[in-house]
Parts: sequence; C-alpha cells; structure tokens
Amino acid sequence: MTDKKYKPVIGMEVHIELDTKTKIFCSCSAQHFAAEPNSQVCPTCMGLPGALPYLNKEAVRDTIKFGLALNSTINTFSKFDRKHYAYPDLPKSYQISQYDLPLCEGGQWISPSGKKVRITRVHLEEDTGKLQHKTLNGKRVSLVDFNRSSVPLMEMVTEADFDNVDDMVEFLREIRRIVRYLGISTADMEKGSMRLEANVSMREDKGEAMGEFELPDYKVELKNINSFRFLEKAVRAELKRHEIMLRSGEKIPQETRGYDEAKKTTFSQRSKEGAADYRYFPEPDVPPMRFKDSEIDTIKGSLPELPKDKREKFSGLGLSDEYVSFLVEDPDIAKFFEEALELDKKTNLGVKTISGAMVNQKMHEEYDTPASLVKKLVEVTKVDFADSDVTKSAVAKAIADNPDAVEKFKAGKGALIGFFIGQVQKELKGMGDVSVVRKELMEKLEE
Ligand code: ZN
Ligand code: MN
Repeated sequence: MTDKKYKPVIGMEVHIELDTKTKIFCSCSAQHFAAEPNSQVCPTCMGLPGALPYLNKEAVRDTIKFGLALNSTINTFSKFDRKHYAYPDLPKSYQISQYDLPLCEGGQWISPSGKKVRITRVHLEEDTGKLQHKTLNGKRVSLVDFNRSSVPLMEMVTEADFDNVDDMVEFLREIRRIVRYLGISTADMEKGSMRLEANVSMREDKGEAMGEFELPDYKVELKNINSFRFLEKAVRAELKRHEIMLRSGEKIPQETRGYDEAKKTTFSQRSKEGAADYRYFPEPDVPPMRFKDSEIDTIKGSLPELPKDKREKFSGLGLSDEYVSFLVEDPDIAKFFEEALELDKKTNLGVKTISGAMVNQKMHEEYDTPASLVKKLVEVTKVDFADSDVTKSAVAKAIADNPDAVEKFKAGKGALIGFFIGQVQKELKGMGDVSVVRKELMEKLEE
C-alpha cells in the first residue's frame, strides 16, 4: 500500500539554564561559562556526604514567571524528588528534580497558523557537571568539571501536538524570545544554556481532527542537538526515515538518536529507559514549597511585556510583519525602538522613519542610544529639506494660503512670522530647519 499518507507527530523537551547569581542549592556562582574547571564548587554541589541543599528562591520565581508566560497553572503545593541514575558527571548519583508535583502544569502556545500546542509541564531541577574527553600524557582520559553541577535548570515538556517542522521551529524561537524578555536566561544554545530534544514519530493520516487520533506506538528521541538549524535538519531526516520504514512495513524501534551533520543522517545512541528506572522518591533534604495565590498574583503583576504583546503593539502602529518581527526578536531592540518613539514625540520624525532606520540601515548599531539615533535622524532629514525644493514650496504654499496674514505682516505686524513658520512646519511635518524656513519666509514676504 503506497497510497497511505503519513503525518508527523512531534513533542518537545527543552532545558533552559537559569541566569541566577548562585546555584540552586548552594551559594557557589552559577555563572560557569569559561570559568577555571572545578573553581566554583562546594560540598553541596559536589554531593559530599552530610552536605545539605538550600533552595534558591530566585530560581523558583523565574520558573513560575516562565510558566505564567505560557498560561500554565502554578501548583501552590510543589516539591522536589530524587531522580536516580549513575553517571560520572552526577556526583550524588541522583539529580534533584521534580516528579509528580512540578511548579507549573498545563499551558499552551498558538502557532502563527492558529494551531494549538499544549504545554505538559515546566519543572525545576539541578544541572549536572560536564565531562571532558582528552588525551593526557598519551592516555585517553575523561575529566569531570563540576562548575555546572547544581546550576538551576528549567525543563519544559510539550504534548506531541506539532504536526509540522515549521511550527516546531517557530515555537522554539518564541520560547527563546520569552525567556530573554523575562530576563531569566541568556538561552544561548552554543553555550548550552538552551538545550533541545524532540520526540518524533509518524502516524498514518486518515483525516482525523486534532485529538481524535491515537498516538503511534513508538517514538524516537533526538538529543544533544545545539542549534535550531541542526534540530530542524535532524527532525526532517528522521521523519523521512520513519516514513520509508513504515511504508515497507518495518517496525521502528524506540530509541535515542543524535544527528551527524556531515552525513546528514541521525544515528542510534541508546535504547530508551522508562520512567520507573529512575526510582523517583521525594527529596527529604529540601522542604516542599507552598505558595499563596497572592504571591503568584504578585509575580504575575511583575511580568514585563512579552513578545506577543510587543508584536500586537508594533503591528498596531501600521508596521509590516517583516518590520515587526525584526523589532520584536531581541528585547533590547524592542526597548530601543520604543524609547526612540517616545523621544520622537518632540521631533516628529514618524514611526516609518525610525523603524526604517533600524530595520533597513541597522542605525541602532552605530548610534547606540535612542537619543543619539533620533538626533542623527533629525540632522539627516533637516539637511534634506533645507537643500531641497520641499522647503521652498512649503513656504510658497503658506504664503499663498494666507493672503490676510501676508497683508498684515507687510503692514508691520512682524510677530506673524511665528504663525508662518508654524504653517510651514505643519506642511513639512515638523521636519523643516527653522532658521532656513525663517530666512526663506523673510525673503518671500519682503518681495
Ligand atoms: Zn556549591
Ligand atoms: Mn531534565
């Protein structure tokens, strides 16, 4: 049967390192990037016997903020659990994570094409250390750096609601924008502060609506992929592989795979462990967390404007989608643009001029404050008008439109020059160079 149609079924797991000052359960610095190996460690994050974890409030607050931004429900009772597995970069042989009572549950994201993707949960856990594989004195060795051990890590899981790769990529970009707007992570994938995993399968499409079909009886996890571009390629390659196998009646094994960029194919890493293998149980050293509704409301009230708010606001100014997405991509650029608009209330350059200077000419890179950009634009546009015929014709129009005022001026009412300048500026939308306009008016009025 070759006429069968197949549709992707994709779910995401995203780990985001929180940009807090200290680690999640001790006072060591959480800013581990490029630090001397094992220079930011203590008995707690090394998992030494007797050391006790002490919870970082900031990490909890950041996770709640993120959940609220995704319309999740915040659990007013939440706790940590031990997730057991043995690995050299995990000193305690368990990770303190959250199992059945995560900080945030539910939530959703609507794709640009209007499709709904359900967020399953967002929980908080500790990061592991890092292994380095090296050759020392001619021997192959593995070294462990514990600087990253116990850095706060937020994990978000979605339902397998993506039925196409474009939505998946757009979702991940939006997640990155949201954490950057919230200021809770750099979400820098090259440095590993945002890590992506996709679980991928294919189902036969019999035209069912969303929620009406059964999920496939297998899924393949794609892991350790550190860019949107590679993840996109890996998922596309994987979907193709599944479709070919399914068409020829093969069974696809449940496993974890990585992506080989050179070969443009995925490769098997290990077969999947079930949740039971982790022997979760409640973490006895960290007390459970309870929140009052009023505390959650306070956090909600402190949320900044999010990318979707800015998008709506900028579209409302009459900007094209292309301009809007450029200005919204980076919260610093959005802020710069809005500050420039605020300053422009005095200069009247207009939304088009300011956005154009930023989107097309990237002038915000050269003029690094909104004030200096506006100042430059005022200079540039003034020179244009002063030298052009535009000022002259605006002056001629002001004179032609106001014969009574011209007569009075000529009869000695010199103060009317202010009125004429106003008329010219109105015509020029405030872009005239006042000294040039005055000179031009005086010449014409005294003719
Ligand atoms: Zn420590
Ligand atoms: Mn995790």
